[in-house]
Amino acid sequence: MMPLPCPSCGQPLGLKLDFLVKHPAVQCPYCKSVLKFNIDKESTAKMEKGLKELQDLKKKYENIAKFS
Ligand SMILES: [Zn+2]
Repeated sequence: MMPLPCPSCGQPLGLKLDFLVKHPAVQCPYCKSVLKFNIDKESTAKMEKGLKELQDLKKKYENIAKFS
């Protein structure tokens, strides 16, 4: 997961998406500006599904490699 930079001062915040889903408003520790992240639960779910599919695919190829 890429660390999100503060949109105001550009410092890396090191916040993860799952944290932001639970805390959509956080204060930047560097410039003290309050940041609001509008995270759509639906797109988060889609992203998680995509990641899972990618892992399944990886497993599939691992098995193929093992048997070849
Ligand atoms: Zn900041």
